[in-house]
Amino acid sequence: MPFRLFHDYFPAVAERETRSITVTPQSDSGLPVGSYGFLEMFCDEPGCDCRRVFFLVMASFRREEQAVVAWGWESVAFYAKWYKYGDREDAKLLQGPVLNMGSPQTELSDAILDLARDVLLKDVAYVERVKEHYRMFRERVEGRGSHRFLKKRRRLR
Ligand SMILES: [Zn+2]
Repeated sequence: MPFRLFHDYFPAVAERETRSITVTPQSDSGLPVGSYGFLEMFCDEPGCDCRRVFFLVMASFRREEQAVVAWGWESVAFYAKWYKYGDREDAKLLQGPVLNMGSPQTELSDAILDLARDVLLKDVAYVERVKEHYRMFRERVEGRGSHRFLKKRRRLR
């Protein structure tokens, strides 16, 4: 499962539509004050339809990534079926949101995961946007004209 930044294929859309969350001194998130950017990554393996996003989380006050959060918007049953070799617990992990095993994490990662679960993914409009980005990204990977899709998006505005 190779993952790649949405920004690599759609830089202009990514710049407009990448979500960031500002943590203020009044916030009880346990995170340092600052802005947290959730850069979307998707799988770019041809023929795959894993329906998950990886958020590479950047903080405004540091250079390095602070967490990688994995999340899938489908049901646990979907991931159980898709990932044939695992059990229900594995499928739950695929659904997430979870800190991605194998990605570098920091002392902020756990609080960032909470922020993703409690704020980012509670935003229904944002979740729909992520799914749309996934569709665009997969069309590009599969080589089906994404320009057609972009034209449609433009009309919708
Ligand atoms: Zn995949």
